[in-house]
Amino acid sequence: MDIKPIANQKKSFLANKTFTTVLACGVALGVTFGAYGMMVKHVEVVDGKQVYEMHTTKNTVKDALDELGLSLNEGDEVVPQLSTCLENGMRIQINRAALVNVTVEGKVLTWVSTKATVKEVLEEAGIMLFPADKVNPSLDSEIKSGINIRVTRVTEKSEIQQVKLPYSVIKRKNGNMDKGQNKVISKGVDGLKQITYKVIYEDGKETSRQVISEEIVKQSQQEIVEIGTRSMVATSRGNMRFKKVINMKATAYCACRKCTGKSPGDHGYGITHSGMRVRQGVVAVDPRVIPLGSRLYVEGYGLATAQDTGGAIKGNRIDLYFPTHDKTLKYGVRHVKVYVLE
Ligand SMILES: [Zn+2]
Repeated sequence: MDIKPIANQKKSFLANKTFTTVLACGVALGVTFGAYGMMVKHVEVVDGKQVYEMHTTKNTVKDALDELGLSLNEGDEVVPQLSTCLENGMRIQINRAALVNVTVEGKVLTWVSTKATVKEVLEEAGIMLFPADKVNPSLDSEIKSGINIRVTRVTEKSEIQQVKLPYSVIKRKNGNMDKGQNKVISKGVDGLKQITYKVIYEDGKETSRQVISEEIVKQSQQEIVEIGTRSMVATSRGNMRFKKVINMKATAYCACRKCTGKSPGDHGYGITHSGMRVRQGVVAVDPRVIPLGSRLYVEGYGLATAQDTGGAIKGNRIDLYFPTHDKTLKYGVRHVKVYVLE
């Protein structure tokens, strides 16, 4: 904080002058004790905004300030120095020291300065300012003791963000496809957009974000889906309206011991879960998928009623009744469409 380039220049200039004035002072003293009496000098003293004009017979700058009753505090600077001999027409400048607090990059610096403005105080402390930095109070503000100066470092960065552009879906009706069935004709592809932001940081904290440019790096591609609208199914009893179609895994059973664990004559032989006698068209389902009692049309089997359940019949499973065991073997396992009729 002792860097005072302007003051030093002044001092060295005055130092040379002091040498000559000391001699002049000596001459003046000679005159003083001579026949002409004491020599009166006209001196101007500037103390802040106060300007004093005086006529004095004193010898040094210190004597002149004492005569005016101006006291100096620690850190106050006087130009020229106190020991300098007074000269006629001399201008004495008092630079009053002020306590300054400067907050910069999270640190608070405190010292005593004789500088007049915020700009000079920051120069004294060797604080470099960049064009975007903020200074409060402003650089041309006057220094008063106890002043708090804040330097906010402002930096600007460019940031790039990539954003997904979700594809859109085009739905087309298809009357040749059952209601509830969909088919992707063309798969959708997400696009990509690149956004460039200008981001402002103040002391490392983001304070503003502005979009500078947006560029589509990759175009999205529409997805095309066909939606079935057919709500009628052809059965042996003509076209029937259905509520929904479920793709199911179908198995076959008959009333035999292999299929049910019961033989003719056993209690419950040939009786379904719902108490009905088994016959063509009685099928077992998971009631959580198809409610018991629903009227169904099973592709490749025909009209049926959901009347039975089975331990292995869970989810999208259906068990179809056939009158003989041979027929169940022939049927095997198939994947079928099950229409739930209205
Ligand atoms: Zn069987």
